[in-house]
Amino acid sequence: MQRSTGEYKIKPIKKKVRELLDHPYPSRVPKGVFVEQWVGISTDEFHRAKDADVKYMRNRHPLITDMDWSRADCVRYLTSIGLAETPKSSCLGCPFHGNAQWRAIRDHSPEEWADVGEFNAAIREGNARANATGNKLLRQAFLHRSRVPLNQAPIDHVTAAEWAALQEEIGALDTADLEEGVADGCSPWACRGSDPVRDEFGLAA
Ligand code: SF4
Repeated sequence: MQRSTGEYKIKPIKKKVRELLDHPYPSRVPKGVFVEQWVGISTDEFHRAKDADVKYMRNRHPLITDMDWSRADCVRYLTSIGLAETPKSSCLGCPFHGNAQWRAIRDHSPEEWADVGEFNAAIREGNARANATGNKLLRQAFLHRSRVPLNQAPIDHVTAAEWAALQEEIGALDTADLEEGVADGCSPWACRGSDPVRDEFGLAA
């Protein structure tokens, strides 16, 4: 998933930043010319606050350095201005979604649901370039934890297999993960995809 962050978030952001600085690739950005980016990492996630990897971008984390706000402080503030339902930031087809997020897409956004279904089908056998260079997937890729196509995945209830896995991994796996997905949101410089995906079904290669 860090690949998705690199390809689909960081690369386009760098391209835009270079344009804004009037030094599009491949021209060199002069020393001392940079943009400041504000990244919304809260105090409970301070370990995810990272510097950008190029000198023409400097990351700033105002929730940590200026406001000392935790996730709860952010939720309190959003609630106070009528935005209590603000979802976690993430890509549409993130495999870290819990069942609640998949249901929300299916039930409220049919076009996006069709889109993620197509995406899931397209990545099933791996990426075309990787296949062409012989780096084929050893197994198939799926977005839902149950490793079946999204339109067949048990997103309306927790399955017996999921419960069995929970019993075995008690303490290591939070029941809320299955329903709500991972707690962390995702941002270009704090990709939750750097966390290992747990293999509740014992299917990992
Ligand atoms: S939300 Fe983060 S972890 Fe999920 S697909 Fe997007 S970049 Fe990857």
